[in-house]
Amino acid sequence: MTQRQVRVRIAPSPTGYVHVGTARTAIFNYLYARHYGGKFLVRIENTDRKRSDPALIEPILEAMKWLGLNWDEEIVYQADRLETYSRYAQQILADGHGYRCFCPPELLQKDRDEAQAQKRTPHYNRRCLNLSQEQIDSRLADGKPYTIRIRIPEGEPRFDDLVSGELTRRSEDIEDFIIARSDGSATYNLAVVVDDHEMGITDVIRGNDHITNTFKQIQIYRALGFEIPRFAHVPLILRPDKKKVSKRLGDKDVMAYREEGILPEAMFNYLCLLGWSSKDDREFYTVPELIDIFKAENFNPSNAIFDEEKLVAINREHIVRKTDHELAAIVAPLLVEAGLTSRYWLETRWDYLRAVVGLLKERVRRLQDFVTLSGYFFAFDYRYDAKAVAKQFTVEKADLLEELADRFEGQAGFTHQNVEATLSALAEEKGVKRAELIHPVRLAVSGIPAGPSLYEMLVVLSQPVVVERMHRAVDYIRSPGGS
Ligand code: GLU
Repeated sequence: MTQRQVRVRIAPSPTGYVHVGTARTAIFNYLYARHYGGKFLVRIENTDRKRSDPALIEPILEAMKWLGLNWDEEIVYQADRLETYSRYAQQILADGHGYRCFCPPELLQKDRDEAQAQKRTPHYNRRCLNLSQEQIDSRLADGKPYTIRIRIPEGEPRFDDLVSGELTRRSEDIEDFIIARSDGSATYNLAVVVDDHEMGITDVIRGNDHITNTFKQIQIYRALGFEIPRFAHVPLILRPDKKKVSKRLGDKDVMAYREEGILPEAMFNYLCLLGWSSKDDREFYTVPELIDIFKAENFNPSNAIFDEEKLVAINREHIVRKTDHELAAIVAPLLVEAGLTSRYWLETRWDYLRAVVGLLKERVRRLQDFVTLSGYFFAFDYRYDAKAVAKQFTVEKADLLEELADRFEGQAGFTHQNVEATLSALAEEKGVKRAELIHPVRLAVSGIPAGPSLYEMLVVLSQPVVVERMHRAVDYIRSPGGS
């Protein structure tokens, strides 16, 4: 085969969403194009008029954009190309690679029922293959409707799959399938071949549920004299219980993961591991790294299992590696949406937000965790955790907290080191363990018993806020029913 510039495509059928398997296949095509310096194209398979509704198409493009799968040329819509397909069907007929089939649907159904009763695979029995020209003309003159079938030649078609190696199928197992319906409209496989040819597709990377279609499509390529592309049939994505992901079972819109706080680069990274591996046991990759190392040899033929836990673990790694500034930009709208703060408030406190996300990022698995973990950084009216109050807010602790608050107030340079030294000195003076101060202080300034490193947290909250919150806790403990 001549070395042409690589051109690949993703060809989703409009369904209003992008299933993780389709997203994964789109990612493979994208990486393949970028790695080999080629083009990545999009074709919308909407020959069915009902599927031309923008509500079914837009979400697909939105998901592609979210994942950063930028396509290189104008999108091809099959709905715009119906006449072209019909023209090619006529060409196959005219060249003798196809024939008219006048068999009425009821007769075909009867054939199928018979085959089933005899436990044979139903195949068209070529009743119309050898009609004479006279027979054809008379049926046409009678206005009898007909479909066009492709004539499958003898032989054993084979192709080298980039994932699974050589695949073969006996010709007898491929029936003379219909390429154009009785209304002249082309069927799916013809449309795909015509488009892949006219779009100059060099490599077809798609799910291995299309292998049977590929054998049919190869017959069409041959009939039309088109160059046959390379094929890569990637394994299906299975659920952790090894069941096939389906509409009913765990089929999920890739965008649902955005709502669940998954970063697009984490989704990209994780999906890439399903059916491909660099063979070095690495799992964390950035997109530029993947572009660099994505080779066709590394497709993996075994079925891939979608494990949400692993996705979340990879998400965590991507979160940790982002700069605090990048994270602040991502988290700000989530905080506003959750009502924790306002855009206006954040605009003047960008450094504060940056410090907060920096403090929390090691503890976060999904982006939403920033919202659940950071409430007390933005709200002053938080409640104290009742269980922790019973343990930490004793009357003796009120005295200690009060003393420490006073010392913090007079502290010059409210830094990690200074704050720690002040707390340690007080603990030593009073003959108590540091933990006996650390826990009530944490509860006083955050309302909860766990969180990031205390000293860092105090510095981020700032001296006046910490002092005020500690005094408030002291008042709370001393109030009737407070401890
Ligand atoms: N529309 C097909 C699908 O969504 C695409 C098949 C192909 O890539 O050729 O599975």
